[in-house]
Amino acid sequence: MSVYKDIFKHWNLDHVINASGTMSSIGASKVKPEALDAIVGVLPEFVSMEQLQARASDVISGIFGTEAGCVTACSASAITTGVAAAITGQDLDAIEKLPDCGDLENRVIVPMGHMINYGAPIPQAIALAGADVVSIGTAAMCETYHLEAALREGAAAAVYVVSHHTVREGELPMDLFVEICHTHDVPVIVDMAAEYDMTSPIELGADLVIYSGHKFMCGPTSGIVAGKRDLVQATYLQNRGIGRVMKMGKESIVGALAALESWVNHDFDADTAREEEILALWLDRLSDIDGLALSRHQDWTGNPITRIEVTVDPSKSLIYAWELADRLAGRKTRVIVRDDYVEDGRFFLDPCNLNLEEAASVADAISEEIHKAIANGDGCKCSWSDVKRARATDPLDFLRDVR
Ligand SMILES: *Cc1c(COP(=O)(O)O)cnc(C)c1O
Repeated sequence: MSVYKDIFKHWNLDHVINASGTMSSIGASKVKPEALDAIVGVLPEFVSMEQLQARASDVISGIFGTEAGCVTACSASAITTGVAAAITGQDLDAIEKLPDCGDLENRVIVPMGHMINYGAPIPQAIALAGADVVSIGTAAMCETYHLEAALREGAAAAVYVVSHHTVREGELPMDLFVEICHTHDVPVIVDMAAEYDMTSPIELGADLVIYSGHKFMCGPTSGIVAGKRDLVQATYLQNRGIGRVMKMGKESIVGALAALESWVNHDFDADTAREEEILALWLDRLSDIDGLALSRHQDWTGNPITRIEVTVDPSKSLIYAWELADRLAGRKTRVIVRDDYVEDGRFFLDPCNLNLEEAASVADAISEEIHKAIANGDGCKCSWSDVKRARATDPLDFLRDVR
């Protein structure tokens, strides 16, 4: 048997229980069998990459109802190459010269509230194409006049982001954003990397829409781009320029397509049934723990996901929420919770990537860590400011593992 049959043993890796959602930091998703089959089928073969991308366009445009589609290395690279496409069009000389835009229009408009960080900053992904990033509005306020004023000065594209990370109040709705950009003939690129909704942006007339192949679709690391033919083709052509440093392999393309094709027939009811069992287990097992308050929490951007919100009262649990999340992640089998808002004394448990047995281990781990903190009196030692300071001074703490 190959030593790689057990990579955890071979490379001495910790097992991870994912109660957080789809996170690049823990390998994004468990790639589904259909995608694995396609990847194993193509890897030992030669194939024309252009023909593969042409088939990708057929599959993606058929599913999304767009003129064309292509596969990119990931969503972040789709943002960069999509923006580049809007700047250069299909001019091969301009494509080779990026990020130098010469005399080409290179202003790219983004609402300030959409300037998020998904592991890296979105303005950087835009700027990498050579674009001049023009943010409009303020953190929680973007009005039509902000967009109009920016468009009047000219723009190659506008980027609209749908994500739980964006500011949720005071933003321009997508329909209005697209409508106004189009009155100025400016194409709109919509980042839907982690969203289930595969229809709205296209129905609203978005020119390029971006999804991650490795998030809920459970494909390999990849980005799926659907949209207008000119812009998709120009996105693909960036492989002859800046896209080359974001190269996708044949395995990413077939894996993404297989994941997408299987996603169309996805059994959401089966997901919901499994997830409801997990939520019930957590509510049952964790509600007796002193210092924890639990409630059901619906996903903010409308994805069909219900999570459990866990609010930690440190006066009873004798541990701060961020310490608890950190200690769970530091266990021999790492337990990763969704730590958005941990500074506010709460975190979320996401059932999407778990079976019932793993969900029970999550509950056991939480219970154990709280009881340990109470018994050892070693909780409530590390303030949120300490955490923030440590993150700046020790961003490479994974290197501690390197011997
Ligand atoms: C995850 C994410 C990205 C980056 O996606 P990758 O495919 O991992 O590069 C970009 N935008 C949003 C909104 C995301 O959630």
